[in-house]
Amino acid sequence: MTDFIFRILAPSVEISGRTERFAVRRIFCVGRNYAEHAREFGNDERDPPFFFTKPADAIVPSGAALTYPSLTQDLHHEAELVVAIGTGGRDIATKDAASHIFGFACGNDLTRRDLQAVAKSQRRPWDMSKAFDESAVIGAIVPRQSIAPEATIRCHVDGQLRQNAKIGDMTWPIADVIAALSTHVALAPGDLIMTGTPAGVGPVARGQSCHVEIDGLPDAEFRYTV
Ligand code: MN
Repeated sequence: MTDFIFRILAPSVEISGRTERFAVRRIFCVGRNYAEHAREFGNDERDPPFFFTKPADAIVPSGAALTYPSLTQDLHHEAELVVAIGTGGRDIATKDAASHIFGFACGNDLTRRDLQAVAKSQRRPWDMSKAFDESAVIGAIVPRQSIAPEATIRCHVDGQLRQNAKIGDMTWPIADVIAALSTHVALAPGDLIMTGTPAGVGPVARGQSCHVEIDGLPDAEFRYTV
């Protein structure tokens, strides 16, 4: 057995109803992916989905009390459906995509919006606005291959409704997202895909709690300490 100078614990996510955990390899995130957004701009044509990443150790489990992130005055919530990949592959056909899914979870793609605005205007990478410590709140994964388009995704901050949409409102449905991503990289077991957020993103302040819920999945919630 190989010796290392130190050990690193593999990041993982709880699996609903099981004692084993889902070991996480990578986290991919989809940019703008809800129809309402495109329609606002009178845009019928769909741009291909685009992707960015977070490190696997940015994951925090549901129920965590977190310290407000450094270097931001405008931390935003983004409620998202998370797809957990169980079977890898490259150039996956849309019709085969479901067979690569292990399950689904609720997620929150936490974003330092002020840093992202600077990055966009300066044409710099998004990493420090998206891929910081404790930036991916992810609830327990429910093993299943599909989720109903009518399923509702909601986000509350201190009990106030901020985001409310249907999973079926996605510009690029889950199968298309998996197919597109698998042309960029070979997907592997342990990969998570955060599939984009609907309209209504906004700030979560110090001392506030934030709650993501999707029909049929355990919530992903957290709060910032004061
Ligand atoms: Mn997002």
